[in-house]
Amino acid sequence: MKSLWNEADAARCEDELQLRVYTSRLLGSNPELVLHGGGNTSVKIRKTNLVGEEEDILYVKGSGWDLATIEAPGFTPIRMAHLLKLAELETLSDSQMVNELKTQQTVASAPTGSVEAILHAVLPFKYVDHTHANAVVTITNLPGGEERIREIYGDEVVIIPYVMPGFDLARMVAQCYAAEASANTRGLVLMNHGIFSFADAARDSYECMIELVERAEQYLKRHNAWEIPRSGVESDKPLAVEQVARLRWEISQAAGAPMLLSMDRSPEVLSFCRRDDLDRISQQGPATPDHVIRTKRLPMLGRDVSSYVKAYGDYFAVNAPHARQEVTMLDPAPRVILDPELGMLTVGRSSKEAGINADIYRHTMQIIQRAELADAWTALSADKIFEVEYWELEQAKLRKGDSAPEMQGEVALVTGAASGIGRACVESLLARGAAVVGLDLDDSIEIMLERSDFLGLTCDVTDQAAVKLALENGVQRFGGLNMLIMNAGMFPGGSRIAELDDEIWRKVMGVNLDANMALMRDCYPLLKLSPNSGKVVVIGSKNVPAPGPGAAAYSASKAALNQLARIAALEWAADGIRINTLHPDAVFDTGIWSEEVLASRAAHYAMTVQEYKTKNLLGTEISSMDVAELAAAMCGPLFAKTTAAQVPVDGGNDRVV
Ligand code: ZN
Repeated sequence: MKSLWNEADAARCEDELQLRVYTSRLLGSNPELVLHGGGNTSVKIRKTNLVGEEEDILYVKGSGWDLATIEAPGFTPIRMAHLLKLAELETLSDSQMVNELKTQQTVASAPTGSVEAILHAVLPFKYVDHTHANAVVTITNLPGGEERIREIYGDEVVIIPYVMPGFDLARMVAQCYAAEASANTRGLVLMNHGIFSFADAARDSYECMIELVERAEQYLKRHNAWEIPRSGVESDKPLAVEQVARLRWEISQAAGAPMLLSMDRSPEVLSFCRRDDLDRISQQGPATPDHVIRTKRLPMLGRDVSSYVKAYGDYFAVNAPHARQEVTMLDPAPRVILDPELGMLTVGRSSKEAGINADIYRHTMQIIQRAELADAWTALSADKIFEVEYWELEQAKLRKGDSAPEMQGEVALVTGAASGIGRACVESLLARGAAVVGLDLDDSIEIMLERSDFLGLTCDVTDQAAVKLALENGVQRFGGLNMLIMNAGMFPGGSRIAELDDEIWRKVMGVNLDANMALMRDCYPLLKLSPNSGKVVVIGSKNVPAPGPGAAAYSASKAALNQLARIAALEWAADGIRINTLHPDAVFDTGIWSEEVLASRAAHYAMTVQEYKTKNLLGTEISSMDVAELAAAMCGPLFAKTTAAQVPVDGGNDRVV
């Protein structure tokens, strides 16, 4: 591990807080030190307040900020004098502690300071850095971990036995530090938790962290516990999409809300999941409480999720009979599932959460395997994990029940998603919190949006093998399917029946009808396993109720698709799947309507372009977004009791009313 300190960058920092931001970001940029909002740092600065008094202020990382991207407002200023008085108390509950942190901050709008704020305050150095460095955490989770740490660091660190983060840990640190610190002390190692470094200069504190962690890495290398051997495993069997969707359904049932499931079948992960000792090494608990807080659950093994849920029940019964009541407040669904065939499946309310859980567990796998190479993985005992899972502060977070977006945890598939109505549908669904798989012939779909809740795949919907593969990819990424928006379609140039070309007729039928029939058939098993009931929206056309001359192939294909949807409503109602159709007309902000085409069509009717665009009863323009919002609403609670409906979105048409 190398220091990333750069003199020129550091010189640009104008004050002590800016330097704190700078070295915090250096720590945050290294996933071997800090993962997703983990770790925390602080600086103590003397300030003059509004009434002219000098005060020592602790600037400590505020909740909700990530060290990798933190800025000055991410540090919460809290009065040192009060924090030091709190550290003298015999007891302080977590909620009292949070209240004190909140009421003693000097900027009202600052975030709540880290739960480790009092701990930072009691260390008598200007800069304090704290990480859950993988190498240190690995060694503290080995048999004889404390002796090993002593062997590596001698009297340069004070060793703190495991205590749950919060007030008790701050007190323990204050006592141990007072009793054991010497002139040689440069840091603290917290067993089964992480490491602190400190100094009066930002650079010294940061580089001390790097050096201490480097020594832990060297120790593992000396014990041949660094390179992780991997057997040549590949995912040889095709993905059983229905099995994964069923797992997601059962997890969502247990969680009481739709959850996303994200798969990793990389050789590294499969190698871990196929270890003979998986049962022992994966069921012990997390490497550090920082990880359990966000994973919230132990990894579970096997294939039958009801056995996972039952195992949790047993676990609660044995380890915390008194906490039964509290258990009902939390969902019993696992967050990490390991399977020799499926690999690692991580669960989250959003794709971001599932992704964070995956990152954390990938690091946990590395830590466990290195510990096994060094000696044996020996994690925190079950009762201590329970303590963290049911930590008062965690409970408070859960109780708040921040209002989830309407479609959180749901997955939609949109065809023809790269432009026009399809793209607008993607945006409407994402805005409601859904994860979206977008298919399009145009490969720009793959880079259309860079966000974890969108997967863009190049796919010809008339190619059944390609569609199957796309569904597989969607299931790997999000775990299943809740909504299908059938938008892809084609509109050939006008042609009367007398001149209609067979080839064109077949092509239009192939795209607008055959491909959608195959898509409905292939999505059905997934929609049936949708945690919130399956929803299908057909983007129809005004041509269904009011066909026009010269559009035989298009109108006939859309009318046939309309009939197909009506049959599906009959056949799928028992599975809770609803299917509704919307009939747009004159949506001109799509690819096929160039300025020229628009001008020529308007001229054909002896109208201005504006008149042509608004030639409907309401005299209004219809945009792709108007159509998309209706499509999204049809998947939402407003249409929860409606199936087989056909709703126009055309400004009113005198041939349809
Ligand atoms: Zn920590």
